[in-house]
Amino acid sequence: MPEIAYVNGVWGPVAEAKVSIEDRGFQFGDGIYEVIVAYDGRPFLLDRHIERFRHSAEGIQLHYDFAARPVEPIIREGLRRCGFPDVMIYIQITRGAAPRSHLPPVGMTPTVVMTFKPLPRLPESLRERGAKVMTVAETRWANCYIKAITLLPNTLAKTEAAEGGYDDAIFVTAEGEVRECTSSNVFIIHDGHLMFPPRNESVLHGITQSFIMECAEAVDMPIREQQVMLKDLRGADEVFLSSTLQEVLGITLIDGKPVGDGRVGPWTKKLYAEFVARSRNARGAVAVAAPR
Ligand code: PMP
Repeated sequence: MPEIAYVNGVWGPVAEAKVSIEDRGFQFGDGIYEVIVAYDGRPFLLDRHIERFRHSAEGIQLHYDFAARPVEPIIREGLRRCGFPDVMIYIQITRGAAPRSHLPPVGMTPTVVMTFKPLPRLPESLRERGAKVMTVAETRWANCYIKAITLLPNTLAKTEAAEGGYDDAIFVTAEGEVRECTSSNVFIIHDGHLMFPPRNESVLHGITQSFIMECAEAVDMPIREQQVMLKDLRGADEVFLSSTLQEVLGITLIDGKPVGDGRVGPWTKKLYAEFVARSRNARGAVAVAAPR
């Protein structure tokens, strides 16, 4: 079965999909995106993703008419066409194509691109040992709550991490404020309390993060949305990251030093089990028992 793409109403194999070289997404990174998973053919937390998509569009004054050109029917059509059970759906909307000029012409038609690919799974070995991360300087712009396709600082940080033998990087400001990973949010656990940096303009408001808050409530875990400093990160009992594709992934090494005892901790495991149970329940599949 081919990985399929949708470009402004045209369906075809990903390898044959095309956009103009004058597209502002290509020229300026002038666009927004979402990554959504479908389990058993059903998109997970779709409404929340669409809501954030609208918010991102507003954030860059990209005038996409979600009522006139709704994305949900395209997603449903893509899921039907691709036929994969578990799918990674990528959606990108750019401001459109026009001769290159910083100032966009008025009344552009946005470009809509989607791809439907089999959901990539994290290696079980990584889940078991946990991720190794390094901290890097926060070099991104002030509006990281917008899910913009302009991701150069993120890709450079991820590359630096890989070159240093790490799985990922965490952005930390010059003042020592912990922000997030290159493509995920960060949580710390201290004395059974779950903490994460404020959902302000400096970080992406993760859909998985919001779902984990519900999981934490379900397992009676107190939650605190508050500034996390580098020293808190280093001194935490447990640290984990969250994203649509990675779900809940323990972090067991930061800048070469173990987190806690250096193994994925019991609270992280409990939250992950709750996450799996709830997300799979949401699609009507069998629940996974939480570890004791
Ligand atoms: N932060 C950043 C910078 C991201 O790129 C992502 C992944 N899109 C996340 C956090 C996690 O967001 P979500 O849980 O909605 O996938």
